[in-house]
Amino acid sequence: MRPSKELLQKLSQILPSDAFFPDEVLAPHTTFRIGGPCVAMVLPQSMESVAEVLQLLNETGTSYFVMGGGSNLLVSDRGFDGIIIKTSGLNTLTIEDTKLTAGAGNPLGRIAVAAAKASLAGLEFAHGIPGTVGGGVCMNAGAYGGEMSQVVLESRYATACGELRTLKADEHAFAYRNSFFLQNRDCFLLETVFSLKQGDSEASFAHMHELWEKRKASQPLELPSAGSMFKRPPGHFAGKLIDDCGLRGISEGGAMVSPKHANFIVNMGNATADDVLRLIERVKEAVLSRFGVEMHCEVRRLGF
Ligand SMILES: Cc1cc2nc3c(=O)[nH]c(=O)nc-3n(C[C@H](O)[C@H](O)[C@H](O)COP(=O)(O)OP(=O)(O)OC[C@H]3O[C@@H](n4cnc5c(N)ncnc54)[C@H](O)[C@@H]3O)c2cc1C
Repeated sequence: MRPSKELLQKLSQILPSDAFFPDEVLAPHTTFRIGGPCVAMVLPQSMESVAEVLQLLNETGTSYFVMGGGSNLLVSDRGFDGIIIKTSGLNTLTIEDTKLTAGAGNPLGRIAVAAAKASLAGLEFAHGIPGTVGGGVCMNAGAYGGEMSQVVLESRYATACGELRTLKADEHAFAYRNSFFLQNRDCFLLETVFSLKQGDSEASFAHMHELWEKRKASQPLELPSAGSMFKRPPGHFAGKLIDDCGLRGISEGGAMVSPKHANFIVNMGNATADDVLRLIERVKEAVLSRFGVEMHCEVRRLGF
């Protein structure tokens, strides 16, 4: 249900003024730089505040969406007719022995650097992924052989009615770009404990640097995007299939299949979500007709 005036008033009362933003345009909150306004964006600063907000939204049947770094999202040009709960205020980070505990809103780069500084190994792969702990665990983000599933020990989350619960490692239902949190959309990940190994600080920083150089050489990081657009189809590489169809560099409006990495759709400056959707359809149709392979989007959609 669309947020009512009464609900907006209540939210503005329970949250500080720098944590409540009516009519916030979503494009600047996404790495694609695409998307219209939401009814309001809220930025809770603690687990208790999240629980209170969730309770209120659920009691009133109000539509809401949890946003981390917005790096795996395509938001509609018309925006989202509900409340966005952005996690950036949940940024606690502690280290005890080989365990690193991080609030959902921490950027993955920040926790990778904190681990490396403490001579803990295991999070180097996550350093260049431009998402948050919440989005990373939710998507089971991975790169260069590493994946969230390998390092998560447990997570704390809030249910739709604001109840706080703990999820053990094997209860996360991790699969390729999938997890318990994608399957249970009303559960809000609050913080995760990562189990790391004693390592060597210098070696971790060197490894992160090496992976960053690889990323820069192969990905169009100079233009807005949402990373890999399509999941890896079993037995294939999405980028290679797209490339073999001769689709590198094709465009729809301001959206283009990156000439540098064919599985990235980039925003050339003025792309709309509709441009991106048209391009996605062209790519899917071409790959299906040439190779008989069905492509599925990795990027999540909001407001369509
Ligand atoms: C240049 C670039 C490179 C990338 N490289 C990689 C890569 O190497 N590997 C990779 O796996 N991905 C990559 N990505 C994609 C993206 O960064 C990851 O999927 C990342 O984990 C998304 O995190 P986020 O915080 O931005 O999530 P968002 O995009 O904000 O959200 C993604 C999903 O997670 C949900 N979510 C977010 N936080 C929470 C929470 N606290 N509780 C419950 N649900 C939540 C959202 O509702 C949404 O469904 C890349 C993206 C870009 C732009």
